[in-house]
Amino acid sequence: MKQQANLKSPIKDVNERLNSVRNCFNPLHPLFTPGSQIVDHFSSRISFHSPSSSSDENLYQHLQSLNLAFRSSQVNHNSTAVIADRGIKKSHVATAAAHIWADNSVIKQLRVHSLDVTSIEAELMAICTGLIPAMEIDNIHDITVITDSITAARKILESKVDPLQNMFILLAAAVKMFLSKDGRNKIRFWYCPSRAEWPRHKLVDNQVKASSCAPTFPSKESHLFSKKKECDNTLCEWQMHFANSLKKGHYFLNFEDEKGIIIKPTYAKEGSWLPVIGFTNSLCARFTCMTTGHAPIGEYRQRFFPQLPTSCPCGKAKVQTREHIVMECDRHDPSTRPCNTIINSFVHFLADNPEAFSFDNG
Ligand SMILES: [Zn+2]
Repeated sequence: MKQQANLKSPIKDVNERLNSVRNCFNPLHPLFTPGSQIVDHFSSRISFHSPSSSSDENLYQHLQSLNLAFRSSQVNHNSTAVIADRGIKKSHVATAAAHIWADNSVIKQLRVHSLDVTSIEAELMAICTGLIPAMEIDNIHDITVITDSITAARKILESKVDPLQNMFILLAAAVKMFLSKDGRNKIRFWYCPSRAEWPRHKLVDNQVKASSCAPTFPSKESHLFSKKKECDNTLCEWQMHFANSLKKGHYFLNFEDEKGIIIKPTYAKEGSWLPVIGFTNSLCARFTCMTTGHAPIGEYRQRFFPQLPTSCPCGKAKVQTREHIVMECDRHDPSTRPCNTIINSFVHFLADNPEAFSFDNG
């Protein structure tokens, strides 16, 4: 036994030093055993309320309902409301804060910090910070939790292997205890995005933004944070390679987004270019031809088929270049010409001039 202890300690030390990711999986926890999961017994006493779509109109209606739900939580002595929010600074310090409201006033303000976590983890941390103390208040049967991440809140009902497992076990166990204690106990989660600037949520948001806490080292990263870091590094490498590589072609045309930033490749949200171009095959094909310079135009023929004509049918350009077609050619309505290098302007130009860069009309 003594030898085992002697061996274990250095192994544990090495593991602590070299393994920089926090342990986050606990699939054998009793909360995940079929039959004893929260969803098996209490799903009807936990509800989630969010707008039916992301439109401004639906959000407005949702906020009206949220106002009523909050008011109702403040007039009943057996009810309380928890408003949770989080923020992550550039130093990777995450702040999670929560206000507990009863009788139309804040009865508790809570705040915790963490390092190297993702935003969903920070949001779950904020919910834990407010909800756990609220469930411990005597004679409270109904808790309204207001958060800007319903996805984080829904984790309480999930019983699958998840990188957030160790975080929500703590919350899920407390929720299970609260709901088991009394048949009247209920928890309602309400979505409230920061952008809606709902006044009471804004109070927590301001507190999060004003909070400062210096990071303490060394610290282990969460599993999700570590994955995100790897992903960001790979993406950065990919974008640098794309910017410097000639493989995309000498004629590749760089565009800017609405904010005037040069568009870089990404894997997220269907990529950088496609969502702007739309999914019309012909437009997409002409856009690709225009962007790469591999198009049925004089400039391309001059390079690859010098025996073929290179001038523009308008008669004003000896070599029909891409710039001529977009900026000068009389065959296109001058009012449709792009006045900047923003991608949308070029998409509109192609949409307004179906013959530009088309194989049907060189
Ligand atoms: Zn022309």
